[in-house]
Amino acid sequence: MPRILVPEPMTRFKCNERGCCCQEWRIEFQPEELLVLQRALPPEQRRGLLRRARAWIAEDGETLEGIELATEGPDCRCRFLEEGGRCAIHAQHGPEVLPHLCVRYPGFSFLREDGEVELHFDTVCPEVLARLAESDAPLDLVSVDPPADHHLSARAREPVTAPPVSVGEQALETSEFEGCRDRILEALRDQDRDALELLAAVSHALARLGQGEPPTEFHVEREVPWQPFGAWFDDCVSAHDGRILGRYLKLYARFVFDVPLASGDPETLDAALAYRADWADRVAPRAAEHQGLLRRYLAHRYFAAYGFYRTSRDLAFNYGSAAHTLAVAFRLADGISRWLDRPVDRPLLLMSIGAAEYFSRALRIDRQAMPWFGLELDPAPPQGEDAPGRSDP
Ligand code: SF4
Repeated sequence: MPRILVPEPMTRFKCNERGCCCQEWRIEFQPEELLVLQRALPPEQRRGLLRRARAWIAEDGETLEGIELATEGPDCRCRFLEEGGRCAIHAQHGPEVLPHLCVRYPGFSFLREDGEVELHFDTVCPEVLARLAESDAPLDLVSVDPPADHHLSARAREPVTAPPVSVGEQALETSEFEGCRDRILEALRDQDRDALELLAAVSHALARLGQGEPPTEFHVEREVPWQPFGAWFDDCVSAHDGRILGRYLKLYARFVFDVPLASGDPETLDAALAYRADWADRVAPRAAEHQGLLRRYLAHRYFAAYGFYRTSRDLAFNYGSAAHTLAVAFRLADGISRWLDRPVDRPLLLMSIGAAEYFSRALRIDRQAMPWFGLELDPAPPQGEDAPGRSDP
């Protein structure tokens, strides 16, 4: 088994076994995984297993790539999810009968050129968010060689080959990309710097890279003017209709345990999620109490460089949505705080980040509309902390 590179807090990851990711999403089986399950099930359960199943056929029109079993009920529950959140397959037949997607989630593994496996963890999962919130210290990456029965080994099994990476029009060699990422992660370790200022500096660096700066010159500047990034970031906060955000927040509610979403009035949610220009007053993204978590989240996000989807692996560059997703998280935090009449404390900020990740993922926002493409570095940005007409969060 190759060594596994993983964010250190994820070595302690443990599923809460509440079934949050066993609903609304269809679970994809590889054909051979379905055979293993069929053999394990008693005949009465085997019958009808493939009813209303959806098959994925490869581009050659002949090869069966995967099969999604039909779900049950209005919330599209996995048919093997028991009341209380336990998985019936896992409980009755063991994890070896589960499809690899269930074994590995919320992990996604990628095989690098040097033979090491990178394990990325999805911040939609509340337990991933909880591990990030364990501390305010800089996020460490660790290279581990766990025993075969360790959860990291199971999650890193069958890694996808790390895809080619491009930024804007510029394709990067693996070593070039990793050099850039190392510099981003190093910058995000700086505990003296405000998380949003760091995000602006990283976005400026990526913008220069996307505009053709050689990757060997990639660097995250110590200070960049807040504008034009600030104006772009505020546009991202304002970007989505409250009704759409409300719809996705209701879907994400199954991942939420530490914020009482059920106590809010569903009739007033969409209005509460409407954009307000003074969002930063309530969210206070520059408050000292948020800085450690935000820096750790951003480092976790920039480590997870590759896309999750089958269709996006060839060009996927997950950085495209990092700043935008944080902006959506702030918009959600502002709205939910008003809706529930509670401050933007750590549980609320965490769940807003998770919901924003879920939203961004579900929407599959076009990468061409992502951060560095909208960043106008030329002509020269307005000087000073604030550009006219913009508030600095
Ligand atoms: S979302 Fe995370 S915590 Fe919830 S059931 Fe899935 S893996 Fe477990």
